[in-house]
Amino acid sequence: MSIQAERKPTKKRKKVFGPISIPILVNDSKVAEFNLLLYKIGSENYHVLENLNNTFDEIPYLRIESACTFAHIYGSKLCDCEQQLRSALNIISEHSGILIYALDQHGRGIGLYNHVRVYQKEQEGFDTVQAHKALGLDVDARKYSNLLLILRDFNIKKVKLLTNNPDRIKFCEANLEYCKRVALNKNLDRFNVRELMIKKEKMGHLFSFKSDTEWIANLKKRRLGPYVIVKNANKNKFSGNQKNLIEKVNKLKGGLDDFFTIYILLNKMSFLGFKKLILKLIKGNSSDIHLRLIFTAKFNKKEIKELRNITDKTVIKEIKCIYKY
Ligand SMILES: [Zn+2]
Repeated sequence: MSIQAERKPTKKRKKVFGPISIPILVNDSKVAEFNLLLYKIGSENYHVLENLNNTFDEIPYLRIESACTFAHIYGSKLCDCEQQLRSALNIISEHSGILIYALDQHGRGIGLYNHVRVYQKEQEGFDTVQAHKALGLDVDARKYSNLLLILRDFNIKKVKLLTNNPDRIKFCEANLEYCKRVALNKNLDRFNVRELMIKKEKMGHLFSFKSDTEWIANLKKRRLGPYVIVKNANKNKFSGNQKNLIEKVNKLKGGLDDFFTIYILLNKMSFLGFKKLILKLIKGNSSDIHLRLIFTAKFNKKEIKELRNITDKTVIKEIKCIYKY
C-alpha cells in the first residue's frame, strides 16, 4: 500500500500514560530534560519524548524513530540508528520538538525475530533489500497512521521533519498542513557503509556523505597528510594509465596540502589487478599516505579483508568507503 493511500486513522483504542520528566544524554557532554509519555494505540506502543517549550516561536521539529535494539541498547555499529537518535534528540533539545519512538516497529517494521534473520542473511552476503525479499518480508513494513493520533494530541499541524527517508516525507506532506524536511547527516565508517549505501541507492534515502573536502579537512586538523583518494572513473573522469598514476603518487612529498585523486576504471579491473595497484602505490612511499577508496566495488568480504591486511601493515593508514552491492 502506498503511503498516500494509507488510510487515515480509524477509531483505535488509545491509552496514554505520563508525562514523566526524564534527563537524557543527548551528546557526549550534554544532558537535556524531556517529557516522556507512553502511548498504546491498538496493539502498538510508542514513547513520545517532547520538548515543546518554544512552540509559540517556531515550527517544532519532528523525528520518527523506529526501535533498533542492536543500536539503541548495545550501540551496534552495523547501522546508524544510534547516531540518528542522538542527533535528533540533540536538535530537539536545542529548539522545540517531539520524537516519537515506535517501540514495535523494529527493523523497519519486521519485528525482533525477523531483524535477526535479516542480519543473518546479510552476513551470508545479501544486501538489506535482497535479505528482506529472500525472507518474504516487506522492505519497509512500517505504517505511520498512528502517528497522526499522537500529533493531534499535541496540536501539531506543521513540522520540521528530521529524516532522510522519502516515504516519511511523503506521508507528512500528505497529512499535515506544512512539512519541511531537515536532513540528518551521516558519518560513514567501515561498519555501516554497506547498509547506508544500499539505503541511499536502492531505497532512495536522501543524504550525503562527508565530501572529500571534509575528509581532508578532518585529517588536516589532526595534522595528517598526504592524501590519496581513489574513485571509480566515469566517461569524463579517468586518470590515465597506471604507470603514470603511480609516478604521480610517488611524488607526493608528505605535506599537509599534498593530495591526489585517482580515477580508475574499476569495472575493467580484476581484484588482483586492483591489489597490485594498491601495492604499487604503497611501495616507494616513505611518507604516511592516507588513502580513501570511494567506489562501488565488486569485491567480496574476503577480498576486502585482504585489502585491509595489506594496508594495515603499511604506510597507508585509512581505507574509507569500500562497499559492494
Ligand atoms: Zn538499526
